Amino acid sequence: MSVDPDAVTDILTGPGDRFECFFWTYGISVRVYKKNLRPVVIVDGTFLKGRYPGTILSAIAVDGNNHDHVVGVDHQFILLSDRHKSIIQGVPKILPNVVHMYCSYHMSGKFGHKKIKFLVQESAKTLNQQEFWGNMLGIWVLSSKAHEKLMDVGPLEKWASAFQEKSRYGIVTTNHVESWNKMIIGERMMSVTTIVSMIRDNVIRHYRDHRNDSLKFNSPVTTWCQEQIVHNAAVARKCTLERASAGIWSVTGLKRSCVVDLNKRTCTCKWFQTMGIPCEHAMAAIKEVGFDPYKFVEVYYLKKTYIETYREEWTPTERRKMATTDKRDLTLKTSKNFKGGTS
Ligand SMILES: [Zn+2]
Repeated sequence: MSVDPDAVTDILTGPGDRFECFFWTYGISVRVYKKNLRPVVIVDGTFLKGRYPGTILSAIAVDGNNHDHVVGVDHQFILLSDRHKSIIQGVPKILPNVVHMYCSYHMSGKFGHKKIKFLVQESAKTLNQQEFWGNMLGIWVLSSKAHEKLMDVGPLEKWASAFQEKSRYGIVTTNHVESWNKMIIGERMMSVTTIVSMIRDNVIRHYRDHRNDSLKFNSPVTTWCQEQIVHNAAVARKCTLERASAGIWSVTGLKRSCVVDLNKRTCTCKWFQTMGIPCEHAMAAIKEVGFDPYKFVEVYYLKKTYIETYREEWTPTERRKMATTDKRDLTLKTSKNFKGGTS
């Protein structure tokens, strides 16, 4: 049987060679992530519901059209999680170069008050520090205890977009991995070997379903990106602007005045550099000089990148007969670098 060289599997066994946990990723997922996806990885777990307790911990990235994508990663990226203790402790040890950030939805879930929940989510999302502090003041007015609890979460750059240096591409919640968890909800009752097999089928189905989506794109970018561009172009019509120097513009929009640098692809509103798509201010400048807005979009959103993401077909491999008894399930033995069967 041929083995995909990028596929990785590893089984950890405990005392008496009893099964403890299984890690696996698909070669195709590793290749696609490295070449075509934004460097933001969302991690979340879902509990097994069968005879034996445990958790399926999934890593998901998001493609240029905002579809979930199971990944295998090996370089620098942003990891977004629900702040589970084991993830907070494990990330610096196992992935020292990774920037670990917290999901805003889980953060707001720690508060019962509806208005505070909303303000926490808005505080995580805004790219503007003034707006952030305005929201914080709003929370303090409602409850000084809630404000204190929020400040105790850790450094602001761990959860508030306005203080983050690395681009998060607008991904502030673990919702994507939660919809993946819903997709595999039926598998949670099964034995481990059956779960692995059924998840593989789910991933293959995902690739097949999205392979032809690009036929529906009516521009050089994905449908989702096109929606952002159309919206920003509409708002840009209401902006006034003045050229400061080559490529640099002072733009006054509905909410604020910004400085756009088309050479560096930045705007002082931070949306341009965070999303990798021109903001309304940048769109105003781009339209003024008659440039092509698609030339200012990051490669992740291009139609050609999307086609490349789903170009590779899964190569069917011989299937071993899956173990069906729980006894077999728990006594799987392997060497540390066991590889195979997941191509
Ligand atoms: Zn802007």
